[in-house]
Amino acid sequence: MDLNTVEAVIRPGMRSELPAWRPGDAWLGGGTWLFSEPQPALHRLVDLAGLGWAPLTVTEAGLTIAATCTIAELNRFTPPAAWTAAGLIGPCCRALLGSFKIWNLATVGGNLCLALPAGPMIALTAALDGTCTLWTPEGDERPLSVLDFVRGPQETALRPGEILRSITLPTAALTRRAASRRISLTPGGRSGAFVIGTRDADGTFALTITAAVRRPVRIAFPRMPDEGDLRAALDEAITDATLFDDIHGAPAWRRHMTGAFALAIRDELAREGVS
Ligand SMILES: Cc1cc2nc3c(=O)[nH]c(=O)nc-3n(C[C@H](O)[C@H](O)[C@H](O)COP(=O)(O)OP(=O)(O)OC[C@H]3O[C@@H](n4cnc5c(N)ncnc54)[C@H](O)[C@@H]3O)c2cc1C
Repeated sequence: MDLNTVEAVIRPGMRSELPAWRPGDAWLGGGTWLFSEPQPALHRLVDLAGLGWAPLTVTEAGLTIAATCTIAELNRFTPPAAWTAAGLIGPCCRALLGSFKIWNLATVGGNLCLALPAGPMIALTAALDGTCTLWTPEGDERPLSVLDFVRGPQETALRPGEILRSITLPTAALTRRAASRRISLTPGGRSGAFVIGTRDADGTFALTITAAVRRPVRIAFPRMPDEGDLRAALDEAITDATLFDDIHGAPAWRRHMTGAFALAIRDELAREGVS
């Protein structure tokens, strides 16, 4: 849609060309949300695509995903064979049920910064111990875990003028075994509950819950919990205030599905034994 309060769109080619941030500015990722609804408070868009960040960088330390990497680019990534948990990438990308156009424009960073409970890139990066690198307006970098970055529906820890530069997933998380379950009310609908489980070689089991809750919830167990312990931990971590309530699912249904998924994931990762 036309954003008729926007008076300027600029496309810096390097960090030193970024303008001083002012009220009414917005960083432009793929624009799939920015251009999807009226933005009367915006006067200037600063397009991040011109900064030319490499979408995906593999190092011994892990995988760094540029904020401007698109969902389509991430989905095409071929990970090293040892990165068993990278099997989550495909299901997480496909959890964003947009058209070909949306998939090829929507960025990983935009997904995190929009901070919708159903943000599948939030689910992926929170489950794999992602750390955000933020660029501050003073020219510094600020690291922050994805769990701390997303604070609630459309609320992040970004301060005025800060940019999400990248998200790094450590090798230790990428080499875990992993399983996921997701549901939406309709076949093409937004996620109502999305649970990811991981298991370390030392037996540590962790669940990351998104979509059903207002911000990502992480629960870790030193070893596989029995059903009672698992349900008790879920009840403690997911209170009525934590559950998300919108057109994409009633809180009671989201809670129920989260519990069922957590048990199914526990059974799946327990069956395979500790690798
Ligand atoms: C059909 C359709 C289906 C969708 N389904 C889903 C869904 O299932 N789940 C979901 O979460 N979303 C969904 N969306 C919303 C949106 O498309 C995605 O969240 C997408 O990933 C946003 O990325 P973007 O690059 O297009 O963000 P943009 O629209 O460019 O930006 C989104 C917000 O993030 C800010 N921003 C972007 N990049 C940065 C950065 N690097 N640093 C700081 N701020 C930044 C922008 O200023 C803006 O406030 C859907 C949209 C459509 C149209």
